[in-house]
Amino acid sequence: MIEPQRYAVIGNPVAHSRSPQIHAQFARQTGELIEYGRLFCELGRFKATVDEFRRSGGRGLNVTLPFKLEACAYASRLSQRAHLAGAVNTLKFDGDEVLGENTDGVGLVNDLGIRLAQKLDGARVLIIGAGGATRGVLLPLLEAGVAHLLVCNRTPAKAQELAGLFAEGALLARGHGERIRGAGFDELQDVRLSAFDVIINATSTGLADAALPIPRSVFVSARLAYDMVYAPRPTRFMTQAHEAGCPRTSDGLGMLVEQAAESFLIWRGVRPDTAAVYSVLRAELDAAG
Ligand code: NAP
Repeated sequence: MIEPQRYAVIGNPVAHSRSPQIHAQFARQTGELIEYGRLFCELGRFKATVDEFRRSGGRGLNVTLPFKLEACAYASRLSQRAHLAGAVNTLKFDGDEVLGENTDGVGLVNDLGIRLAQKLDGARVLIIGAGGATRGVLLPLLEAGVAHLLVCNRTPAKAQELAGLFAEGALLARGHGERIRGAGFDELQDVRLSAFDVIINATSTGLADAALPIPRSVFVSARLAYDMVYAPRPTRFMTQAHEAGCPRTSDGLGMLVEQAAESFLIWRGVRPDTAAVYSVLRAELDAAG
């Protein structure tokens, strides 16, 4: 009998992760013989835990908080996206080689472009936050043809530093550096500079009650406000955008499903259909709320 190949999501905590449900649905749909579980990892034991998982036949891991940086260091080869993000959410084991990938950005771009039918080519995008999630999505957004990308952060220096990464060498040669800028929230007060098509919340305030210091005028001209966090009810950011006149809002459940599909593709060479899986997850999440 052929044994299923083993995959898991590693994190601390990890019990809340929806990845096993998502990958079980992908496997059923594509006929791939895999087993996908949760791998709880003690802090400080990332390398030992992953080594053991590989020894026991594990073929790949999704990596969640707080191990994305350690996964980056563990990989023997990084994709450009993972290198630039400085964070890895997907590991693929192939003999002695360990490929490190970051699929968050592709996940976001696919969710925006396919499920939400947003044209990113030529779009003006505002992204709030300059943490790990933002790092992972900047290159895919630029590669999707975004015309102007403003990274706005509570600590402006972090946004400026991130934007500065794109002013280096190869990235500048492809014209990315000229299209991205970092700033603080103050800049959003200047009406002339603050017209965006898509506004993305990538801060960790997703489930908090306080509104972000974004003027109403910024939302008025936008066609979509997108929160990377997901919840059974509209998040505070989504409500803030809606009340300010933004015609459409979305949470980040679709990004979660899309980044998982990209991991599945890297591991198994087949891209699952995400629409059906998104619908099941949405219904489950809404019912739980
Ligand atoms: P992170 O690295 O901890 O970064 C947090 C960011 O939030 C920083 O830029 C921080 O600003 C900002 N922030 C924190 N508190 C704030 C406040 N009160 N007001 C304004 N800004 C504040 O987090 P992350 O890993 O980037 O994750 C960000 C969010 O994305 C999380 O909610 C995560 O769950 C979500 N996410 C979703 C998916 C998905 O598939 N849907 C994937 C990845 C991440 P400072 O620099 O000033 O501290």
